[in-house]
Amino acid sequence: MVKAYLRIVNDDGKNYHPIWTYDHNDPDENSAGSRVQSVSLIADSDGRVIEASPSYQSLGADNTNQIRAVLNSPQAVWGEKSDTHGVPYLIRASYVYDEDSHRKYYVAIGMSLADSRKPLYDFTLLIIGLVPLVILTGCIMGWIFAGRALTPVLEVARTAQRISGSNLSLRIPVRGAGDELDRLIETFNQMIERIEINFNQVRQFSTDVSHELRTPITVVRGQLEVALFTAQTVDQYRDAIVNSLADIERLSQIVRALLLLSQAETGQLLLQKQRLDLVEVADNIVDQFQIPAEGGEVTLEFISRVARCAGDFDRVQIDRMLSNLLSNAIKFTPAGGVVRVILDRYEDQAEIRVEDTGRGISPEHLPHIFDRFYRVRGPSEPASPEKGLGLGLSFVAWIVRAHGGTIDVQSEPGKGTSFRVRLPLESGLPPIAEASPAHGEVMKPV
Ligand code: ADP
Repeated sequence: MVKAYLRIVNDDGKNYHPIWTYDHNDPDENSAGSRVQSVSLIADSDGRVIEASPSYQSLGADNTNQIRAVLNSPQAVWGEKSDTHGVPYLIRASYVYDEDSHRKYYVAIGMSLADSRKPLYDFTLLIIGLVPLVILTGCIMGWIFAGRALTPVLEVARTAQRISGSNLSLRIPVRGAGDELDRLIETFNQMIERIEINFNQVRQFSTDVSHELRTPITVVRGQLEVALFTAQTVDQYRDAIVNSLADIERLSQIVRALLLLSQAETGQLLLQKQRLDLVEVADNIVDQFQIPAEGGEVTLEFISRVARCAGDFDRVQIDRMLSNLLSNAIKFTPAGGVVRVILDRYEDQAEIRVEDTGRGISPEHLPHIFDRFYRVRGPSEPASPEKGLGLGLSFVAWIVRAHGGTIDVQSEPGKGTSFRVRLPLESGLPPIAEASPAHGEVMKPV
């Protein structure tokens, strides 16, 4: 334990002076004692300085009121002062009581805070100096890295901007890094590919529609012009009008098909369901197609494995569905071939199969045949006059979907095709009291 004592002595009864006592031979006590003494001030109760070390003098004199306050305080008073160089000192002011003279003496000792404050000061300086540097470096690095990371994104954006209706074949090159950006690019490219396919189909469709509409219009116009300038008899005029009407009928079929499909796809075409027996419906349609089938030397059969198959269906749409499937089957089956419609029932589902022994559909086309405007084009189908608009099967698919059913297709090129439609039969077999539609007229497929 380090100790230092202070005594105030009176030599001549007038002058007081302090005597510091500590063991000079003890290095610890000696260093502590001299440190305390080196920053000290001793004053009497009137505030007169008895002794002040030079270091304490540089802190400035203590105020008399302050000295009096300390002399009256039972506890030491702590404070802080700075010397002329701004070095801070911690000051402890208290008093010592001399029992001989019964007097109190003010004793203030100080300790420089320079050493203890220095690390904090240095640290503060370091922080003040380093923070802007770190922020600046961070900003520069962030800018560089963000720039590097964003370059491919900008590349994607630039390519995307260049893509328009006329150059949908453009693709963004994949960087090969296998990261999220590559996946984004691949997804983007796939999206463009889908858009390109659709775009091409629509473009092709516009061309086809114009062509399909122009041909009958030109023919009608030609027939009417010829009749106007050359016909002389009533029969000649009559022939021209009959032929023109046939072409006008084709025109209205095309327009009707387009209108119906757009209504179906925009939800404007609502089903008008009624209780129907599919055996009777299918039988009727097959009957209507006997004449065109014979015309193409194709055998057309209807096989029903059930006596009745009743459910709630829209008659017009079911007729349209069967007509489209049958007209395709007959159209793509060569002379001598067979087309069969087979009806069966599995619990609460009706199954209608339209099978043919025709040219079939190759596997690369099969997944697309239900797409709008999709037509199989190939060497086997060179500019056929019966080429259609590629709308029939998309309409069939819509009708099946609208009835809550499913459709699938199996085909083998050169051997034949089989479309299988499954339709839910909502309830049991109620009495069927509907008149069969008139036979004989072939429904025009759309
Ligand atoms: P479209 O209305 O022009 O006949 P579809 O949508 O009905 O068009 O048919 C699409 C394509 O599917 C047709 O171009 C045809 O090549 C093919 N296709 C449809 N049914 C058959 C079938 N039974 N046999 C062979 N090809 C078929």
